[in-house]
Amino acid sequence: MRQDLRNNLLAGALCAVLWPGGQPIALGGESLTLAVLIDNEAHVPQTILKKTQLQAADVFRHAGIGTRWLECSFQEAEHRDPPGCQLPLDVPVVIVKILPKAEAQRWSGLDGGLGFCLSKDAYVLFPRAQAVAQREGVPISLVLAHTLAHEVGHSLLGAGHRRDGLMRGVLRTSEWRLAAAGQLLFTPPEARDLREGIRKLIAPQSL
Ligand SMILES: [Zn+2]
Repeated sequence: MRQDLRNNLLAGALCAVLWPGGQPIALGGESLTLAVLIDNEAHVPQTILKKTQLQAADVFRHAGIGTRWLECSFQEAEHRDPPGCQLPLDVPVVIVKILPKAEAQRWSGLDGGLGFCLSKDAYVLFPRAQAVAQREGVPISLVLAHTLAHEVGHSLLGAGHRRDGLMRGVLRTSEWRLAAAGQLLFTPPEARDLREGIRKLIAPQSL
């Protein structure tokens, strides 16, 4: 059931979304859209979360991918409760959980990263994002946005890292400076592979 919903491209009513992520930059006339369901377990304030979504949407837009954003748990979306939180039926969905301190401590054995990807679900460790924002002197929304995009990248591309761009294994001060300037993006090959990953999610339902 879950996989059906996540990959669903069947004709159906458009879902209610909290806010759109803008149209993708046209690449070859193709339009691809990904829905991102954010489960805000860390209770990140709405003002920060909205900036996070706008910044992450911009990163995906530069990769030729439009985004829709929902904020609720997967279970809530499945049951359409609260109203307005409904899984889309026409585009693939990636789930992102933003974990609070207590949850994040369970994953302290990880490599010190800001997040991880498990069974295609992306996780962002909010306390670590806060620490990086403080250390680098950048807004927390900026760190959350790029971490979210990186982990969604893993969901679509797999576990490996790349030498350049947003899918680097470690984001250093120089990368956070680029991020602050809006220039830490998926590289063209990464963007191509992301779009291919979305097409693969769409393809089985299109037959
Ligand atoms: Zn990674």
